[in-house]
Amino acid sequence: MRFLACESRSSQFAFSPWRQSIMFKTTVLLAGFAALFAAQGALAAGHVIQHAGDKPSVVGSSKIFTGKVRQDPIASADQYSHNGITVVTFEPGARTFWHSHPAGQRLLIVSGKGFVGTADGVTHVVRAGDYVWCPPEIEHWHGATPDTAMSHIAMTNNKDGKTAVWGKAVSDKEYAEFSAKAFDALKK
Ligand code: MN
Repeated sequence: MRFLACESRSSQFAFSPWRQSIMFKTTVLLAGFAALFAAQGALAAGHVIQHAGDKPSVVGSSKIFTGKVRQDPIASADQYSHNGITVVTFEPGARTFWHSHPAGQRLLIVSGKGFVGTADGVTHVVRAGDYVWCPPEIEHWHGATPDTAMSHIAMTNNKDGKTAVWGKAVSDKEYAEFSAKAFDALKK
C-alpha cells in the first residue's frame, strides 16, 4: 500500500514533485500556525499580575520620615524599567527627610493635599491629580499638609542601584515656615 511505502526510506523520494510541493507547503503552513500560537501563548504568559495585598504595607522608617507614613511597594526596578514604584501615604504633618534622587523621581498625587519643597525654600501645595518631576540631585522633601493626609505614587529612577540620598529631617520649625509660605503663595 502506498501510505505504508511512505515509511520506507527508499520510497520517500517516490512522491511526485507536485506532491512534494503540496507537502512542503502544508508543513510550512502548519509551522506558521504553530509559531503564531506559540507567540500568542508567550505574550499572554508574559503578563505579570500582582494583586492588591500580594506585598504587605510597610511602616515608613523614622530614619527617613517624620510622623506617620505608610509605604506600599508596587514594583522594583528591573531589566525592563529603571524606576521603582511605591505608593506613599503621609498622615497630616508627616513628611520625608531632606533628600535627593541621583536619577530623579516622578510623583503623582493620588489623594489629599500635600507639599513638595526644595532647599531654596520654595514649597508648593499639591493635590490629587497633580504631577511633580523632581530632577536629579535636587535636594527636596515631600509630605502632607498639617491638617490633611496625602498619598502619592512615587516613581523613582535608579542609577547604579541607588534611588535616593538621604539627609536630615525637615524640622518642625522648617515645616511650619514652609507650610505658612506655601499657603500664603496660594492667596496671591
Ligand atoms: Mn523625593
